[in-house]
Amino acid sequence: MKRVTLFPGREKLALNRHPWIFSGAVARLEGSPAPGDLVEVWSAEGLFVGTGQYNPTSKIRVRLMEWTPGAAVDELWYRRRLEEAWALRKPVLVETDALRVFFSESDGIPGLIVDKFGPWLVAQFLTSGADQVKELIATLLARTIPGIRGIWEKSDGDGRRMEGLPEASGLLWGEAPEGEIEILENGNRYRVDPTSQKTGFYTDQRDNRRLVSPWFAGQRVLDAFTFTGGFAVAALAAGAQAVTLLDSSAEALAQARKNLALGGWEPEEVLEGDAFQLLRDLKKRGETYGAIVLDPPKLATSRDHLEKALRGYKDLNLQALKLLEPGGYLASFSCSGLVDFHTFREMIAFAAKDSGRRVEIVRQLHQAPCHPIRTSMPEAEYLKGVLVRVY
Ligand code: SAH
Repeated sequence: MKRVTLFPGREKLALNRHPWIFSGAVARLEGSPAPGDLVEVWSAEGLFVGTGQYNPTSKIRVRLMEWTPGAAVDELWYRRRLEEAWALRKPVLVETDALRVFFSESDGIPGLIVDKFGPWLVAQFLTSGADQVKELIATLLARTIPGIRGIWEKSDGDGRRMEGLPEASGLLWGEAPEGEIEILENGNRYRVDPTSQKTGFYTDQRDNRRLVSPWFAGQRVLDAFTFTGGFAVAALAAGAQAVTLLDSSAEALAQARKNLALGGWEPEEVLEGDAFQLLRDLKKRGETYGAIVLDPPKLATSRDHLEKALRGYKDLNLQALKLLEPGGYLASFSCSGLVDFHTFREMIAFAAKDSGRRVEIVRQLHQAPCHPIRTSMPEAEYLKGVLVRVY
């Protein structure tokens, strides 16, 4: 067996089932593993730590998958992980036919992300370890999840690039979807093109769309960072008077318009550009709203940029608070894994203080349960938010 031995004391987190072994913890390598190969990890004292995917090009040198000595990571092992993941998702099917059916380390297979849109699956293989078992995973997925018509690969993004893997996309199993498919989330229709690189659909916000929209009834709503109109559609369905769509992507805005049209709605206004600037322009114009959604992309991309990211979040929230009518609502989110809930709430409190307004938290918000968090890997808790009322 290919084997990695750690420096003394560097096994502690991993023994508690944290799945990452960083390059700096590795003292010795035996058996010349290739990228993605399974390796056993041992402590300096000769204690078995776990079995995982080896990657010489990533800072995360090994991603652990199995902690039982001698347990094989074979076809049966993969089948069990997929079956467990599917069992967890079944109750979610009551609310939607769009969900994440596999969430990487949280579900036990590092680098594997699978989303389900109606009868189609979209799979991402983001590590060389996951890439090696692509065919096996596709076959097992088709067997585990009932009613699947096709599995489309969409392996792109930074993770793959960091592992030295080229982008890959195409049909893995079954038939390819022809263009857009319609999904139903909490009773609301959206259209998704599973094969498109540009637009998809964020299933992690499903619960939050449902939880905040009742407060938007009767209000003029600004959906900032709308993407394909996830919150805007939920707001209108819940009785919002009007919505303004704001995003920097013209493609996303075009898709958002189409999604609104499915419910027979039109946006009051569409704003294409940088939210940091547009929120200021709206203030200058004397605009006010009864409710605002702020769902920016991940601003904190590394620990070195955390301070700067927090200033960005605070600025956005302050500008939004300034635009709200007394008694108005702000649904504000961060999808940066590096910003924990405590820090996020503190940022909101600083923005509230600078706005001179009285602000109260009505609801605390999290990623939907199809994005579970292993207790040993708090980094997986990336999406957090609050619904606040502003006086
Ligand atoms: N709320 C959406 C998801 C938002 S994803 C939903 O429920 O589906 C983040 C969005 O922010 C993307 O659509 C991206 O195009 C947009 N974006 C990124 N940077 C931006 C900026 N500086 N100003 C405005 N939009 C931006």
